[in-house]
Amino acid sequence: MASVGPRGLAALSWPALRLLIALLLALLLWPLPARAVPAASPTEPQMRVLEDVSGALDAAQVLAAPGWRALPAGAPNLGYSDSAWWFDLRWTPPPGGGRWSHLALAYPVLDRVEIRLFDRDGIERGHWRLGDKQPFHQRPVPHRHFIVPLPRAAPGQEVVRALVRVHTSSAVQLPAQLWTEQAFLAGEQLDQLVQGLYLGVMLGMLAYNFFLWRVMRERVYLWYVLWVAAIASFQASIGGLAFQHLWPEATQWNDRAIVVFLALAVTSASFFMIDFLALAQRGGWMLRLPQATAWLCLLALLSAFVLPYPMAIRLAIGCAVVAMFGALGVSALRGREGFAPARIFLLAWFLVLAGGLVLAASKFGLLPRNGLTEHATQVGTALEVILLSLSLAGRLQHERRLREQAQAEAMATQRRANERLEQRVTERTRDLEQLNRRLEQASRTDALTGVANRGHFDERHAGAVQRAIASAGPLGVLLLDLDHFKRINDTLGHPAGDDCLREVARRVAMLLAGQDGVQALLARYGGEEFIALLPGLPPQQALALAERIRLVIAERPVDSVAGPVAVTASLGLCCRVPRDAADGIAMLREADEALYQAKRSGRNRVAIDLRTAAAGAP
Ligand code: GH3
Ligand code: MG
Ligand code: MG
Repeated sequence: MASVGPRGLAALSWPALRLLIALLLALLLWPLPARAVPAASPTEPQMRVLEDVSGALDAAQVLAAPGWRALPAGAPNLGYSDSAWWFDLRWTPPPGGGRWSHLALAYPVLDRVEIRLFDRDGIERGHWRLGDKQPFHQRPVPHRHFIVPLPRAAPGQEVVRALVRVHTSSAVQLPAQLWTEQAFLAGEQLDQLVQGLYLGVMLGMLAYNFFLWRVMRERVYLWYVLWVAAIASFQASIGGLAFQHLWPEATQWNDRAIVVFLALAVTSASFFMIDFLALAQRGGWMLRLPQATAWLCLLALLSAFVLPYPMAIRLAIGCAVVAMFGALGVSALRGREGFAPARIFLLAWFLVLAGGLVLAASKFGLLPRNGLTEHATQVGTALEVILLSLSLAGRLQHERRLREQAQAEAMATQRRANERLEQRVTERTRDLEQLNRRLEQASRTDALTGVANRGHFDERHAGAVQRAIASAGPLGVLLLDLDHFKRINDTLGHPAGDDCLREVARRVAMLLAGQDGVQALLARYGGEEFIALLPGLPPQQALALAERIRLVIAERPVDSVAGPVAVTASLGLCCRVPRDAADGIAMLREADEALYQAKRSGRNRVAIDLRTAAAGAP
């Protein structure tokens, strides 16, 4: 359930993601330049500046003092300084008629700002003390910038000049602008919209990823949330919004807040990068560099409470610059290593850097100053935040894919193991079956001659009798006994006797196998006696076959270990349709009687039993 939302986002392919980014960019940027120039745009006054190193001069003294120098157009940045700075601002009425209603100093972190307004005769027409070292409610216009109203006056008495004294621990910058009433209101609305949009994006991403963290419990989301919170707070602090809305009385904290949030942003961004780019697994300098900047920035954060502001902010900015370029380098190299999310990370940081560069370029006059360039860092960080959030959602999908892959691999391994097991079982079964077959064969076979043994004959005999009864067909039982075999053993030795037994069995088996349509079974019945079952053979043919058997034994001597041995056999045949099982057994006896008859008649001959003879055999 929990991952349905992020999966939806993560399901975006990379081209779709790019399209989305382009759309977001267009949405963010398109209205700004168009609207940034309201009906009567603000104008910068002409400026001169004088440094008062002692900080002790008063207005009358500085106006008479030498050393004034003219400032070029564009917001001057005089850097960090302990001196007091005097700015002499002069202007003419708006070109299209009407009058200037407000003088705005759009750099809200100045500590102390004193503004004196004069008309063309040098008569003072207003005197204001501003700066973030004064509680917010003391400002003449409750605005995040320092704004003083220019009073309505009779012709000739309009304010045309301001003397501004600045003493600040922040950088000395004085982006001064003159506004008509109408342009001020229009500009204000646009500014509110941009600020709201920015904070809305940040808050949305923060909340979304906070919930992701609640569900996923992965640290990377928490670092992201912390980072978004810190960068948004930093922007709100440096833009004066935080002072206006969050701590309007906390004049001591306001300076520090900038250092604290900047340091916090760098720390959380560094830890975020470590988790996002999986640097802990990689190790080496790519891990140690962000670790170092993270801890160093934490130190800068603490320094905000002990060091003077200019030192603390310099430390924090130094860390931020190192961390920024470090992040670019690390993510670029990590991308080269084939770690795909690193590319998005690189693009995201590049956007932040680009935002900073655009702002700087506009301040140096390389780019026009407008709504877009003024808010470049906000646009950059907002895009980065969105991009990284998309990428974080993409991680979900990546991890899910890895999980699925691991699962599939585990299943494949399991399947392979099962297959191997099955194959082995099959092989074993086959071996066992083979062994069983061999055992069975051995249990049926006579070891010496290789023909069936007595046990097997008995098993088959009953079946053959049943079949003969059922088909009313004849069954032949042929008993065969070697003649004077004892003598062969006695004179030539037992091994020669064995050779004779083997050879006789072989010759008889060959002969029987060559009989078409006869399913004969030959078995060793015992000692030098063999028996053959001849199913389906009528007595005549059975007798002829018996005769051929006698001949095949007698026709040539057997090659034995002791030389050639002449062997003969006597055969007794019983062949008829058995009446029943008992009659089948009786036939064995009758065949035996016929064999006895053959022996008595002189051996090496075939004899048939009486009933076979009666049935028509000669
Ligand atoms: P007859 O013509 O009357 O059958 O005379 P015979 O010598 O063949 O008969 P007898 O029953 O007196 O002898 C059978 C002999 O067969 C006895 C035994 O030593 C021999 N014999 C039985 N089994 C084997 C065997 O496996 N190998 C060998 N070499 N001889 C065997
Ligand atoms: Mg015998
Ligand atoms: Mg014998």
